[in-house]
Amino acid sequence: MTEKFTPDPILNEKVDKEFKKDEYHPLGKEVYVKAADMMSDKGYKEAYFADVIRFKMKRDKKRFWAGDNISDYVTEEDKAKLIDEATEAFELVLDRLLIDRENDPNSQGTARRLAKMYFNEIMAGRYEPAPNATAFPNDSQDRYEGMLVVRSELRSMCSHHHQPVTGVAYIGLIAAEKLIGLSKYTRIAQWCARRGTLQEELCNDIAREIQKATGAKDLGVYIQAVHGCCENRGIMAHSSLTQTTVLKGAFKEDGNTKKEFFDNIKLQQEFAPR
Ligand SMILES: [Zn+2]
Repeated sequence: MTEKFTPDPILNEKVDKEFKKDEYHPLGKEVYVKAADMMSDKGYKEAYFADVIRFKMKRDKKRFWAGDNISDYVTEEDKAKLIDEATEAFELVLDRLLIDRENDPNSQGTARRLAKMYFNEIMAGRYEPAPNATAFPNDSQDRYEGMLVVRSELRSMCSHHHQPVTGVAYIGLIAAEKLIGLSKYTRIAQWCARRGTLQEELCNDIAREIQKATGAKDLGVYIQAVHGCCENRGIMAHSSLTQTTVLKGAFKEDGNTKKEFFDNIKLQQEFAPR
């Protein structure tokens, strides 16, 4: 017996619209997945669309930690569906916290606001592909050979407590064969930051992505930030500041380059204190 069905868009993109019912496993209303694919998941029921994506990543051995970008697995169209599912889940959290979201006017719609905020704002860097940073050649006779230091404002979130992390990154490099637009440094830094992060990891992530975009081997990233998880809870430290540094190439090996980088940061801070 064959029937019309909607194949799961991720797992069965190549199958046609006819299928033998017993070869497929129902996922949701009209979405089915090949029963054989389910076997590797030991019969785990993919009741939610988010689970379909989660298991696809597991099968591909793709890491999906809070700080990882998973844009290859989530389309713009998928996001609406994922926001619906996350809304349901946040409703449950509010219920479990004994908040009357039916009668409290300020809590009506909070679950959806949270779901949208996570996907579109505070964790947007997980679901969006890398910013497009067009590289311009820097290979003429009078090419720029000096140090470039860009100050980028950051908003992030710690993956331990989902509390805000606010600060600045100073990105310094000796220009290689190509240059990118100045705003791109900040776009890349913010794309790395808008996830669940640890400041130490974030510093590494920014260094790696800037190296990828510019080809620069000599570079440094310095971040200073305040952490909501230290300010609003726990030790309640309202003026603590965390500093992290990643140095590569000449920034690490040559004392003068390193000094020039930190002198530049000091000059920037005199001009625009945090
Ligand atoms: Zn934290």
